Amino acid sequence: MSATPTARRVDRIQPSPSTAAAQRVRELKADGHEILDLTVGEPDFDTPEHIKLAAIEAIDRGETKYTPVNGTPELREAIAAKLAQRHGAHYSHARIAVGGGAKQVIFLALMATVDTGDEVIVPAPYWVSYPDMVLANDGTPVVVECGEDNGFKLTAQQLESAITARTRWLILNAPSNPTGAAYTEAELRSLADVLLAHPHVRVLTDEIYDEIWYGTGLAPTLVGVEPRLQDRVLVTNGVSKTYAMTGWRIGYGAGPADLIGAINKLQSQISSCPSSVSQAAAVAALTGKQDFIAEMVETYRGRRDELLRALDGVPGISCTTPQGGFYLFVNCTGLLGRRTPQGAEISTDEEFCRYLLESQQVAVIHGAAYGSPGHFRISFATSNAVLREAAARVARACAELS
Ligand code: PMP
Repeated sequence: MSATPTARRVDRIQPSPSTAAAQRVRELKADGHEILDLTVGEPDFDTPEHIKLAAIEAIDRGETKYTPVNGTPELREAIAAKLAQRHGAHYSHARIAVGGGAKQVIFLALMATVDTGDEVIVPAPYWVSYPDMVLANDGTPVVVECGEDNGFKLTAQQLESAITARTRWLILNAPSNPTGAAYTEAELRSLADVLLAHPHVRVLTDEIYDEIWYGTGLAPTLVGVEPRLQDRVLVTNGVSKTYAMTGWRIGYGAGPADLIGAINKLQSQISSCPSSVSQAAAVAALTGKQDFIAEMVETYRGRRDELLRALDGVPGISCTTPQGGFYLFVNCTGLLGRRTPQGAEISTDEEFCRYLLESQQVAVIHGAAYGSPGHFRISFATSNAVLREAAARVARACAELS
């Protein structure tokens, strides 16, 4: 009898499509192809100098050892301050967990709470990792398609009909990857009303793009709108996007103490703690000067608007204006059924993305990866020059289909 190479939970999931796309671009580039890469899920800015310096100083001070499992007290303090400002809510240190990126915190939260057959409501379009994370933890993702006509957002009615006795979580990501959609206070209010009527459901709010926001003031949050939900919401966030710190791997979760305790228990057996040096850098990020965030957001806004202008009127595609984040989720259903100059039929978003890559050397990610076929995602976390050229090539690729 041959040994089974992997557990069923591994066979149940796919490698992250965005990571796979980035790897494909790296390989093509290594083979000498000049690819305009619009797959990137991270800021193209460098980590600000004062943050790097704080890490170097931490190393010089000898902060190179294990830290408490749930992060250093300084970092939890900095996170609590940010949460107070953002949600108008107090989080004691016992209600904050720090992990190796928001991704790890989300995974640990599911691992800590989901048993076989438990359901997790995942509105689509979704961030690629949610369904696979649920599956990896023996749960059942309940995907709810959120129409473009409602700005890709979950309605109270949809939420109400998706909830069952087995529902453990609703995952709410706003501003969203891949659509840039964000909920208004009124929309959050109506979701909160449904949630109040179903006390067994917890909500994981993924707020990793909260500061990359094109609206006025702060993006509304569920806890801010309905403080009575604070004990049922796990707020997840991190420093990756706001502070251009994807490689430092620091994220956090804030929620009920029992859940945070369970996350920390798992972390104590998995990684002991997040990187000490990165935690010192994250303290500097959260407590240091914040003015570059507004500059960065203005840069993204300029790119977003230029991209929308360049793609406006291109036959077969249409765009919804993102309210946050650095992605544009393009509807390409108008192209399906058309033929390439070589005569091949484009019948899916994935085929269109392959055609775009092969004919124009532009890499994007197909919408089916986000649970929303008939779309593709463009990341505008890249230079204006690359975006301008890429948009012209997308337009050419569309025009050459017949
Ligand atoms: N949530 C969303 C919606 C994301 O797009 C990402 C990064 N791609 C993450 C979480 C993970 O962020 P981190 O680097 O903190 O793990």
